[in-house]
Amino acid sequence: MGGFVRTLTGDLDPAALGPTLIHEHLSVDWGEMLGRPKVPVDRAALADRMVGKMEALAAAGFGAMTECTPVGCGRYVDLFAEVARRSPVRIIGSTGFFHESWCPIHPIAAALDLDALTDLFIREITEGMGDTLIRAGLIKVATGQGRISPVEEKILRAAARARRATGCPIITHLTDSMSQEQLDLFAAEGVGADEVIISHVGFAPDAIAEAEGLLRRGANISFDRIGYRVFHPDEHWLRLVEHVTARGWAGQVMLSHDAAVVAHGLEIASGENAWDDYTYIARVFLPRLRKETPVTEEQIHAMLVLNPRRVLTFA
Ligand SMILES: [Zn+2]
Repeated sequence: MGGFVRTLTGDLDPAALGPTLIHEHLSVDWGEMLGRPKVPVDRAALADRMVGKMEALAAAGFGAMTECTPVGCGRYVDLFAEVARRSPVRIIGSTGFFHESWCPIHPIAAALDLDALTDLFIREITEGMGDTLIRAGLIKVATGQGRISPVEEKILRAAARARRATGCPIITHLTDSMSQEQLDLFAAEGVGADEVIISHVGFAPDAIAEAEGLLRRGANISFDRIGYRVFHPDEHWLRLVEHVTARGWAGQVMLSHDAAVVAHGLEIASGENAWDDYTYIARVFLPRLRKETPVTEEQIHAMLVLNPRRVLTFA
């Protein structure tokens, strides 16, 4: 085995992933950061619900997904590990921190300097997340609305340094802009655009220009709120996928839902509670993509299988 993908249930041969969703969650709970965690009220029932969703995802033909909830945002590692052990799809967990536009910045991220933050990420990747021995396979970082705050910048730089030390992949959250600035920060730390996944592409005022700007620099991007109709209808995503594949960029694009079985606090940002359908792309979006656009099976295979396999492999 050359490289590997680090899942919640151990390291995996990348070829074993199969179709993979690049940006999902099991739970989001900003109450955890605010000192009032809400999610694990009835943990056994919640674990059962999460396993049920993973069984549905497997039945829809998928082999893996990422869990992109970072530290303090409802990343209940023990719960996720139990779900992963019982799940027919492989799940990749994340270290990292969220941005500070929608929620206060995590106090650990604020308090640690760049070196200590880098060490924290490295420890979560190589030893275990939080107080567990379950290792992160992804670094999730984020920038807020209209700017990159000094703490967000420190987090992005630490992520880049942790990647250089461990080979762990990086996925970023865009709020509404700052995509080029994220790549600039990574480049300053010696991490190329082709090494990172920029997610939530498609929300800038000119979504096509935003996507093209990233793809031209070689970045990997994800269109990942497909089906989440409080944001955009299918037509928006069909148009974007058709556009970027027609221009030869299928090798850098991935698709996902940004779903969560439970989400507490999300209503602050979106006005909605959890979007928990992990099968929408398989059931609704792909049939429309095949019927209504010239996107080919080869391009779909690249977006769902080859690209996630490549970007999630430690390198
Ligand atoms: Zn997300």
